[in-house]
Amino acid sequence: MDQKDYITATFEYFADSEKAVRVCQTNTQDNVHDLEDEDEASIDDDQLKDFYEEFQTNPVLSQLQHQCPDFASIFSYKKDGPVPDNHITARKVVAEAFNYEIRDGILCHIFQRRFKNKEATERLVFQVAVPQCLRHEVLLAYHDSKVAGHQGHERTYEAVRSKYYWPRMYQEIKDYVQGCEICQQTIRHSAGRPTPLNPMPVEDVFSRWHMDILGGLPTTTEKYKYILLVVNSASKWCEALPLKTQAATEIANVLFKEIFTRYGIRSR
Ligand SMILES: [Zn+2]
Repeated sequence: MDQKDYITATFEYFADSEKAVRVCQTNTQDNVHDLEDEDEASIDDDQLKDFYEEFQTNPVLSQLQHQCPDFASIFSYKKDGPVPDNHITARKVVAEAFNYEIRDGILCHIFQRRFKNKEATERLVFQVAVPQCLRHEVLLAYHDSKVAGHQGHERTYEAVRSKYYWPRMYQEIKDYVQGCEICQQTIRHSAGRPTPLNPMPVEDVFSRWHMDILGGLPTTTEKYKYILLVVNSASKWCEALPLKTQAATEIANVLFKEIFTRYGIRSR
């Protein structure tokens, strides 16, 4: 997310009432990383509800938000009003603070989803501001866990931002997913070209045989439990020969006795 554009847009609404500012300024959050309108996160959020509830009710969460360099000034300003001495920093904090709200003692970032058929206020999402020390935990839950199932970075980001926020979140999630060892080992080669199919050459009758073994059959009283299926490629003549085992010696003996002595030894 381009934080600079975001702050600039916030100043445009600085003179309005805080409520109006919130609705207007969250519009400026739309950015190049947004998926299509109404495109829901594909990770089933309900299954991560327990994690979210536990995370949100963490007794030290508020304290950790206070201590996090990303949120300390904003949290203090929202709570008690003091701003940093440096006027440039102070201006930045005041502007950014409009994007936040304290709910039940927890600092939340306000984000507006782009649903076409819903009122602006209905689209507001209160994202828990995640302090630096807890971000890895969120990434593990939303990418590595069984529920998350190592989704790509766009989908992981969409799921995370439905509940959580931290600055430069998109890039951090992207880096995390691209560096994930499991994802690298199981990378999907979607651009790979399939192996071309080549027709088999047509040869003389009985010069080439195709074989396969069928298993999973009931055992006969003579202890046979496999079938060696032999098909001639030119004539499609087939023979089904019983086998007791899949041992190479037994197959060789059967082929010699039932095929080569009856049809002759040809090219392959
Ligand atoms: Zn992964």
